[in-house]
Amino acid sequence: MGKEKVRYTFIAVTLVLIFFDVLMVCVNYQNAREALQSSLESDGEHIRESYEASYIQAGSFMRQTATYIATDDRVNELFLAGAKAVKEEGGGAGGPKAAIARDALYKLVSESWSEMTKNFKGRQLHFHIPPDYSFLRVHKPEKFGDDLSSLRHIIVDTNNDLEPRQGFESGRIYAGIRGVVPVFAKDPAQGVEVHVGALEAGTSFNVLLEDLHKSLEVDFAILMTHEHAKSTMWPEQLASYIKTHPIIQNHLVEATTNFFAANRFLEKKEVISLLGSQGTQLAYFKDIPYSVTAVPLRDYLGEIDSTQAPIGTILFWENVYPQVSEFWKGIWRSIYIALAGFTLIEALVYWGIRTQVRMMDEYEAALADPLTKIPNRRAFDEMLSDCISVGKRKEHDLSLVLIDIDYFKQYNDTYGHIQGDRCLKQVSSTLKNHLNRPDDFIARFGGEEFVVVFPETRVEEATRQAERLRKVIEDLELEHNGKQLKDAGELHVTISCGVAHVKLKLEQGLAGLSLIQRADKALYKAKEKGRNRVETTPDFED
Ligand code: GH3
Ligand code: MG
Ligand code: MG
Repeated sequence: MGKEKVRYTFIAVTLVLIFFDVLMVCVNYQNAREALQSSLESDGEHIRESYEASYIQAGSFMRQTATYIATDDRVNELFLAGAKAVKEEGGGAGGPKAAIARDALYKLVSESWSEMTKNFKGRQLHFHIPPDYSFLRVHKPEKFGDDLSSLRHIIVDTNNDLEPRQGFESGRIYAGIRGVVPVFAKDPAQGVEVHVGALEAGTSFNVLLEDLHKSLEVDFAILMTHEHAKSTMWPEQLASYIKTHPIIQNHLVEATTNFFAANRFLEKKEVISLLGSQGTQLAYFKDIPYSVTAVPLRDYLGEIDSTQAPIGTILFWENVYPQVSEFWKGIWRSIYIALAGFTLIEALVYWGIRTQVRMMDEYEAALADPLTKIPNRRAFDEMLSDCISVGKRKEHDLSLVLIDIDYFKQYNDTYGHIQGDRCLKQVSSTLKNHLNRPDDFIARFGGEEFVVVFPETRVEEATRQAERLRKVIEDLELEHNGKQLKDAGELHVTISCGVAHVKLKLEQGLAGLSLIQRADKALYKAKEKGRNRVETTPDFED
């Protein structure tokens, strides 16, 4: 029973160790993951700041370009002539006079603008008449006269307050980063400077993203929602764009440094969850970990009014293999430490428990009689002393019976020592099996003598029990026909019993010793009276 407990303790200790080891690894993982995430987020924030600065720079460059063109008097005069002609000829696209001015204006600026387009990815150069009618698209001269006032807020606002502006806005053909300036010209009829309209220069995101990609080694994509593209672009323009830039997750790629990767990332759930919001996620592409950051894409309207929903997402991704492999190295290190700690503690606990079990085995062996396996004399002394101390506190009765096999020397002489041992084993196990109460106990007192202790038992009852045991052995009918027995008329193995009793009291002295002495006297009397009988000594106070 004790050893079982020790085993259960070992299992419990092992389970507790495993629990804490797993907990330690989990907590470590969680902390390392949070640290990795916040480092990726702060890297993402730095990239976003660089992007923001470049974006402002690109808008400013477009504003400078527009300003430069709008200071050319020839340009301004032709624009004024065209604007007046449109008015005279009924607005919108105007008539032949407007067409002459438009052609002349186109011829004047188209050459230098195509250089801008070639070398600096200039996209749009567009003259607008207030509030916003397209007068001339230098990038698409065949399209003019359309009303853009519901769409091109940056132009409407500049034509309204005559302040130059910059920002991102989608148009009928392209989206672009734009610089817009008001155009003034000297009216020959009035002789004063008048406001003619607005001139905008636009560029695509691609130039900006390529420059950032080169300096930061980060890939970018500007993603626009399909709804926004539909609400701004001419349908045929959008349809032809979609042919080469398919819509994925309701977004189309407006500009990117890596078209293939941008499309793949758009299919990943980690990235999909980021669309339209701000955040950073770890995502794998071709088995390489990337930190993907999303920032809401806002156009001119969204920049001046933050309650407007974003029109898409700026996405950028960076190879973070070194950080992620460092993270996993840390996790494996903590697993190794946990395993090593577990093995060491487990080995120590196992060693401690094995030692304890061995000590328990040795203790048990020291208290058992090797031949009969019942408690030996030493165990009997301990049990009796415990029994007396408990009994004294409660003032219990205590009875003790000394049992001795009759004519056992004869038995050995007749059947040999080996058979004598067998007989001893049989007698002891029979006696043990015939004890009725769990508190009664038997021990080998020495040689062919046994002692049975009956706690909380009066002398009459103990005598009855001794008589019962004597009868049990007699009924075994173990053959014994030594010479002495024949003389005495016996044919079987029998026992003689001496009973003694004490009423325990708190102030009592050496109750045990006197009890054994008196039982021994009774046993002597039983032998004297012819053996195979029970004798009892009278009680007396110690
Ligand atoms: P009595 O009826 O007066 O008790 O006679 P007895 O022969 O039983 O008593 P005695 O004290 O003269 O002899 C006891 C014998 O028990 C002597 C010894 O050889 C034998 N004996 C003691 N221990 C063992 C043992 O472990 N194995 C065997 N086989 N015999 C033992
Ligand atoms: Mg004897
Ligand atoms: Mg004997």
